Formats: sequence, C-alpha cells, structure tokens
Amino acid sequence: MTNDSKESKLTIENYLDNHYIHRSNWLRAAVLGANDGIISISSLAIGIAAASATREPIVLAGVAGLVAGALSMAAGEYVSVSSQTDTEKADIEREKVELKEMPDEELNILAQIYERRGLTKETAMQVATEFTEKDALAAHVRDELGINEISQAKPIQAALASGASFTIGGVLPLLAVLFAPVKGMEYWLYSSTILFLIILGAISAKTGGSSISKAILRITIWGTIAMGLSALVGYVFGVRV
Ligand SMILES: [Zn+2]
Repeated sequence: MTNDSKESKLTIENYLDNHYIHRSNWLRAAVLGANDGIISISSLAIGIAAASATREPIVLAGVAGLVAGALSMAAGEYVSVSSQTDTEKADIEREKVELKEMPDEELNILAQIYERRGLTKETAMQVATEFTEKDALAAHVRDELGINEISQAKPIQAALASGASFTIGGVLPLLAVLFAPVKGMEYWLYSSTILFLIILGAISAKTGGSSISKAILRITIWGTIAMGLSALVGYVFGVRV
C-alpha cells in the first residue's frame, strides 16, 4: 500500500482511535474496579483465613464481600458521575442564557480562548465568528466549558463498568478460596492475588500506553500492604473456628 492510499485511508475516526486518551474513561473505571475487587476480596479472605481452620467461613465472607463490594462500587460511581453530569448540564443551561443575553461578549470570550491557544487576534476572531455562525452553543460547550464527547460523563455506563469490573476482579481470589488447600490458604491467596495484580497492571499499562514496570510495582506494593494488614488483623483477632 503506497503512502498516498495509506493517508487517504486515514480518517479522523480511525486516527483518533489510535490515541490512548480515548480509552481513558472506561479503562480507568475498569482497572479501578478490577483492582478494588481483587485486593478487597483477597484481603477479606486472607483476614478470615488467618482466623479460620475451615473453608466455609472464608467462602461466605468472600461471596458476601463480592456482592457488597460490586454494589457499592456501582452505586458510588453512579452517584459521583451523575453529580458530574448534573454540573455539566447546569453549566450548559447557563451558557445558553449567556449566549442569548450577551452574544457579543461571548463572541469575544471565544476569540480570546483561541488567541490564547496561539492564533492571531484576527484569525481568532474569524474562527470564533465562523464557529458561532455554525453552532455557537457547541463551540462554547467544547472550547469554553471543555465538555466534549470523550469526557462527557455517562453515569449508567460508568456504574455498570465499575460493578462488572469489581466482580470480575473479585471472582479471581474467590476461585483460589474455592480450590486452594485450606492449610496455608493465606499464602495461596497472597501469591495468586499478586499474580492477578501483575497481569492486571501489565494490561492496564499496555492499554494506557504507560510504563508496565512502574504499574506492576505500584500495584503489588499496595496489594501486599492491604493483604498484609488484613492477615495481621486475622491473626490478632483470630479464634480457630
Ligand atoms: Zn460562553
């Protein structure tokens, strides 16, 4: 394929898809949820395992933790993203009023924004005028309020992504609880969880275009601290059931 045909095949859509930032919203929610699922369920299970000589209490705590955790992640994400949506909507409504009440000032503000981005005064005013003639609200929402399709909050999508990824993450240590020997369950849980965290760290770093080694180091240190403290609590308060 010659360079010309390659360039002609490049459209704004497939060009933008190449950039990591377009993956940021769902990636962040998915990794956060899975991370949380893995670490909180494994820590919970390790704490119970440190205090229990049988499998049933660990399974029970793991399943209860998974359901509670997934629902609270989804609810938390829904509430926080909804309030962001409310703020965005209120801002857009205010912008509509300002555009109606003071169109000239708004045009100047838009031109100043483009000037600050490096355009000459004349070009900035020209661009602002053309955008305003085409769709004033869209131009102000995008360039003045900084709300665009990529960053626009979608509460249901975010809640489902968080709840689902927490569940997927939390199921992994639960599998270890179900199939690993009860004797030394804490160590089976710790080592399998660190493995899951390393895989997740590598995937999220690769997808997000960031350093894999840094991501793995970060995630295993925090995982170790969380599981270590939970095990400590289990040992301190542990009564052999
Ligand atoms: Zn404005």
